[in-house]
Amino acid sequence: MANKDTKIPRETHWPSVLFYLYLHFSAFIGLYLGIFQVKWTTIFYTICLIYLSVLGLTAGAHRLWAHASFKANIFLRQFLAFAQTLICQGPIYEWAIEHRLHHEYFGTEKDPFNSSRGFWFTYFINKLVSSHPDNENLLKAINAKDLDQDPVVMWQKRLYWLLAPLLMIITVVLPSELWDESLFCSIFFVGFFRITVSLHYSWILNAATIIWGLEPLNKYSIQTNLVFIFNKSLWPQYHYILPWDYQCGEYGSYNNGCITAHIRVWAALRLVTDLRTIDTEGIRKAMIEAATTGQDFNECVEKYTFDPNLLKIKCELDLERIPC
Ligand SMILES: [Zn+2]
Repeated sequence: MANKDTKIPRETHWPSVLFYLYLHFSAFIGLYLGIFQVKWTTIFYTICLIYLSVLGLTAGAHRLWAHASFKANIFLRQFLAFAQTLICQGPIYEWAIEHRLHHEYFGTEKDPFNSSRGFWFTYFINKLVSSHPDNENLLKAINAKDLDQDPVVMWQKRLYWLLAPLLMIITVVLPSELWDESLFCSIFFVGFFRITVSLHYSWILNAATIIWGLEPLNKYSIQTNLVFIFNKSLWPQYHYILPWDYQCGEYGSYNNGCITAHIRVWAALRLVTDLRTIDTEGIRKAMIEAATTGQDFNECVEKYTFDPNLLKIKCELDLERIPC
């Protein structure tokens, strides 16, 4: 059986190499057009599309569907599924299962983005080579009952290869229909360039521990100047220990990220419930319990998770009871 030190030879997948070469070449044409020809309205529109697709990936596919760090109502799930379709990363179902596999076998050959093979493999090369010989069975073994029971996920999975190209055509045609952008510019800038930027933004998520995380025994603190370059911190590693914490940002931050802020706003609007997080005291108690009883840390930590939104509601009710 392969372990993290036994590297399984990977064969180059030439159709993928050619596809990504073509995509990046077209994206460079899009970038050139973006600098010299594309209208400002189209640039703003493209930024909005990238923002939406990243939201669909991080808040939707990652935190909601892969890690169940909160629950969302049907309207928000539909919106996030629409946003995730924009990023062209495959159906939510497949993305979430592959991400769960990545967590399950993190840093080993069974991990599709094996970080022990270095940054370029984790970031990009894994797309260009054959996967682990047992990859299909490993994916089948991942528990996906919650995804099977989500009608939005299953609907998007069934219609993905119709929805994704359709959305692509609509998003490319809209600028020329609504504000007279040239279709040529729109195809290369809104189409190829946008998709390439969005893909890189999502690929980098799998390399987060390499870029933003600390090496073992590394003592850089987030208070050093590195914070201005890479924001080195322990939060990427924390995500692999407690992946269900809704506050842990994908890119090395905690509690103050843009996606976390979105989830808090949705919680305030009652669009999401059952947010899962834990505080320092809870982790301390779970560690003591695991050390003294020999129980699994993850089982102990379950007892101390809480929904900050419920706590807030409880505090508000308690305050109302206090007579003036
Ligand atoms: Zn994750």
